[in-house]
Amino acid sequence: MASSSSSTRTVPLLIDGRLVESRSTQWRDIVNPATQQVLARVPLATREEVDAAVASAAEAFKTWRKTAIGTRARIFLKYQQLIRDNMKALAAILTAEQGKTLADAEGDVFRGLEVVEHAAAIGNLQLGELANNVAGGVDTYTLLQPLGVCAGITPFNFPAMIPLWMFPMAIATGNTFVLKPSEQDPMVTMRLAELAMEAGVPPGVLNVVHGAEDVVNALCDHPDIKAISFVGSTRVGTHVYQRASLAGKRVQCMMGAKNHAVVLPDAHKEQTLNALLGASFGAAGQRCMAVSVAVLVGAAREWVPDLVAKAKTLKVGAGDRPDTDVGPLISCAAKDRVTALIQRGTDEGATLALDGRRPVLAEGNAPAAAEGNFVGPTILTGVKPGMQVYDQEIFGPVLCVAEAETLDDAIAMINANPNGNGTAVFTQSGAAARKFQEEIDVGQVGINVPIPVPVPLFSFSGSRASKLGDLGPYGKQVVLFYTQTKTVTERWFEDDVTTGVNTTISLK
Ligand code: NAD
Repeated sequence: MASSSSSTRTVPLLIDGRLVESRSTQWRDIVNPATQQVLARVPLATREEVDAAVASAAEAFKTWRKTAIGTRARIFLKYQQLIRDNMKALAAILTAEQGKTLADAEGDVFRGLEVVEHAAAIGNLQLGELANNVAGGVDTYTLLQPLGVCAGITPFNFPAMIPLWMFPMAIATGNTFVLKPSEQDPMVTMRLAELAMEAGVPPGVLNVVHGAEDVVNALCDHPDIKAISFVGSTRVGTHVYQRASLAGKRVQCMMGAKNHAVVLPDAHKEQTLNALLGASFGAAGQRCMAVSVAVLVGAAREWVPDLVAKAKTLKVGAGDRPDTDVGPLISCAAKDRVTALIQRGTDEGATLALDGRRPVLAEGNAPAAAEGNFVGPTILTGVKPGMQVYDQEIFGPVLCVAEAETLDDAIAMINANPNGNGTAVFTQSGAAARKFQEEIDVGQVGINVPIPVPVPLFSFSGSRASKLGDLGPYGKQVVLFYTQTKTVTERWFEDDVTTGVNTTISLK
């Protein structure tokens, strides 16, 4: 692997409206996963730098919380335009450090941009309620007030979309924010933060600190942070939830997954196979909503040869090549973990219908791509609960194929799996789809839609082991997450009316 030199560019922190070089002695390389080229170095911020970011956010909150709705909304109107204007450049940074294809990187930015557009409508979203005459001459109304300093901790797999799930809505609702991006690919996130400043987010309202475990723990413990949004693995999310909750914070954690797609024999075959492959192998399987288990029901079990034949047509290579379908995994460690799990699957009795462990790269890839973290589309059949490839989240381009006799059996398998992030059913029967939607215990359901991530008019709604906390990111739920409800009960006395002393609890 190439190593960095002192001339390698460094990723700054954003504190109090200024891009500052960290004083940390601990840095790590940001590596292009398609070539191992070192792109930049990112600091693991010091405790003093984390404190400075939180202090800046706390100071900024004093004025930002009172800023007019229209002022807040107009910043996000400008921000969405800046993101659009910079879409190609953002996607290029994202692909270089994360690996996904340029088209998919634009999708990553776009799904975040949709949240920014929604944040621009904050005037309609942060409305309280009013009940007139709850007692004689008494009205009750609610205010949705911001919490204070909020923090966000994000994963490597959507370095644009997931930070944009968090800070635009937190800031639009009147909070200030400290963001801790993934240390594996923080550059596109940083560029988005710079554009937010350009759009008019005032100094201190958005701060960015880099780091890993120690910085995350410092945010969880910090007494001046009121709420934490986390997206990442179940192991880390559970830790963050427990630690930050113990410190008295409001916490929401979106975590790992094992998403099943059920294929009924009456499904539209061609469309279903296409959907399965796109959802399993897109972004090299590194999506929290990737389809990682296909449950073939009844006669759909005969579709495996066609599934494999189609998977073989996908091109593996660097994400910046226009013909690439499947880019590299994020790191050498991720590649080692995924290939070891594939081996484990065969050792435990699954059949390797397609082995992507030594992929042939598509023509035209640069010689440096020989060093990339590539794993090609892999299909394991005969997968059952209890095997490691079923029980663990693989997070790579590996589709496990399981079988079920009936729709009831398929539903029972999914409901017995601890995760509840996403699921899908493929069928042309409305009755079967409705039964699935009613009986499945998973938070996000697709009907002939393989990756049912809701748009920001709704909220992301994973469930069970995929989520801790009640309220999801973006949309209506996050307005409640980032605000506290104050209820005001008011009466105005008319000069000539006295009610006397009332020692009972009732309001009349
Ligand atoms: P990760 O949990 O390793 O890292 C997430 C964040 O936690 C990063 O910012 C990282 O720096 C920090 N972190 C890592 N180790 C830590 C530790 N020991 N203590 C404290 N903080 C730590 O996740 P990842 O590998 O970056 O992302 C992939 C995971 O994220 C997958 O499990 C995927 O399913 C999940 N994910 C879930 C959703 C969702 O909405 N449910 C969305 C995207 C990704």
